[in-house]
Amino acid sequence: MNHAKQHYDGLTYPKVVVVGGGFAGLEVVRGLANKPFKVLLLDKQNHHCFQPLLYQVATASLGADSIAHPFRRTIGPLPNVAFRMAEVQEVLPERRVVRTNVGEFEYDILVLALGSTTNFFGNQQLAEVAMQLKSISQALDIRSDFLQEFERAMVLREENDLRRCLNFVIVGAGPTGVELAGALAEIRRTVLKREYREMDSELMRIVLIDSNDRVLKNFSEKSSANALRYLQELGVEVQLNTRVAGGDPDHITLADGTVLETNTVIWAAGVKGVLVPGLDKAVNERAHRYTVDRTNQLQGYPGVYALGDIALMEEGDAWPKGHPQVATVAIQQGRHLVANLLRSSNGQAARPFTYLDKGSMAVIGRGRAVVEMGGRSYGGVFAWLLWMLVHVVQLVGFRNRIMVLVNWAWKYLSWKNTIRLIIRPYVREGTAVSRPAALEGEAAPVPHQA
Ligand SMILES: Cc1cc2nc3c(=O)[nH]c(=O)nc-3n(C[C@H](O)[C@H](O)[C@H](O)COP(=O)(O)OP(=O)(O)OC[C@H]3O[C@@H](n4cnc5c(N)ncnc54)[C@H](O)[C@@H]3O)c2cc1C
Repeated sequence: MNHAKQHYDGLTYPKVVVVGGGFAGLEVVRGLANKPFKVLLLDKQNHHCFQPLLYQVATASLGADSIAHPFRRTIGPLPNVAFRMAEVQEVLPERRVVRTNVGEFEYDILVLALGSTTNFFGNQQLAEVAMQLKSISQALDIRSDFLQEFERAMVLREENDLRRCLNFVIVGAGPTGVELAGALAEIRRTVLKREYREMDSELMRIVLIDSNDRVLKNFSEKSSANALRYLQELGVEVQLNTRVAGGDPDHITLADGTVLETNTVIWAAGVKGVLVPGLDKAVNERAHRYTVDRTNQLQGYPGVYALGDIALMEEGDAWPKGHPQVATVAIQQGRHLVANLLRSSNGQAARPFTYLDKGSMAVIGRGRAVVEMGGRSYGGVFAWLLWMLVHVVQLVGFRNRIMVLVNWAWKYLSWKNTIRLIIRPYVREGTAVSRPAALEGEAAPVPHQA
């Protein structure tokens, strides 16, 4: 690790370009603040997104602004850090330049922390019909979609249309799928029962599908069993050892030929790294991540580092196939890279990264969660409280922490998801009963009010 100092704004500090202000990128930017580096953060969004709480935005428990934080507010007080809203399209390593939609930027050190995107494993049909949960706009789409389906169900006459409209299928029983299913089930037993009184809430189905033989397959068997029990207590229909083969706007087809009629499929069954052209020698095709050494440097590209979800680092016997794509890995790798860059600027050798696994957690509705920490597995209310504490502490921004706490206090005391607003309607082409036709046609009669 030997980075030549170059001219930049009259100062001879190395230019560090950080691409992606997620967990890893933000850690690097903050760590290099007020240090002898000129840092430029590039992100296609103008805000950091706290992805672990996206499902709460999707299910109307939190507003989008509670889990997002503008980069300009982060970098405002950091004199050696600049931000440009830019989508990186290519890296030209021979010229030490990144090409973006708003121009080219030179670097001495390049830190790639672009995260991951939904992996449909090549199934184009599913990619076209399924909703995703990787960004705030996708979370808002899901929120609008299920609220629109509820409103539509109130005016439908045909039972088949009604059932399809209220059948929510989630594919992938990892933490995202499990948390989403639990939250929708809570909505059925609270909001739907109280506020859509003319509707039979039992018509709403939440189906959670996974090709594995247990939910939360990366957790211990005990936690998986607890999570399954919690889901079943909430009325989620869990279908394990089940593969989804294809889909159309009004149904999905399982590998055994079974057809599930539904307007809403949410895909939470896999992610793949966001790779940009130009660094092909380091791409691991199978994992769809960049192969890096123990200092996160890309194989064959000195001065280029990849962190977090896009980095594939073999760590001896502990992580022979790379680390899990979770926030704690991204944060720790970001911190470690900062320490190594500072060591290098003092003429010291870089140290290899070692991941400290702090555990895993997933929440399943109100008062239920599974937590694995220190080799032990916890469940129930204790785990739920722990889950809330950890997530509030990790949020970026004091205001966001307060907002989330207030929202949760209100929600859990009042039993209401408050942010059920269709502000930006979700428009999907090709549903069996198109939205306008259903709403313009002859509506189901309104029963007499009590
Ligand atoms: C719904 C959901 C729930 C999750 N829950 C948990 C959890 O409970 N616990 C946990 O540990 N992990 C969880 N994760 C995983 C965790 O969020 C990721 O592992 C983590 O965000 C990875 O950090 P990162 O810095 O690598 O990338 P990210 O945080 O994804 O950041 C990537 C950044 O790069 C930017 N970007 C992407 N492409 C470009 C481009 N071409 N040009 C410029 N900028 C670009 C993006 O806008 C983004 O800001 C969850 C993920 C999701 C989606």
